[in-house]
Amino acid sequence: MHCLICSRPAKPIPAINQIASATACEHCGEWEASGPAIATLATMAGHQRMQALRHAQVNSFMGRRPFLHGLG
Ligand SMILES: [Zn+2]
Repeated sequence: MHCLICSRPAKPIPAINQIASATACEHCGEWEASGPAIATLATMAGHQRMQALRHAQVNSFMGRRPFLHGLG
């Protein structure tokens, strides 16, 4: 699979949040997103997806994996 944020090769990993899908990407690190957020990511431009991940990283608790949800 490819990372939904940066489109580079990535692999699926077990999600912490039950409603989420998690991705391990060499470029973005580990992140996860809810189903609706993934659907929204698919409609966003590359820089918007990067921005959404950055936002999730800033808002994630120390040491926690960023979780993208409630986009758009
Ligand atoms: Zn990535």
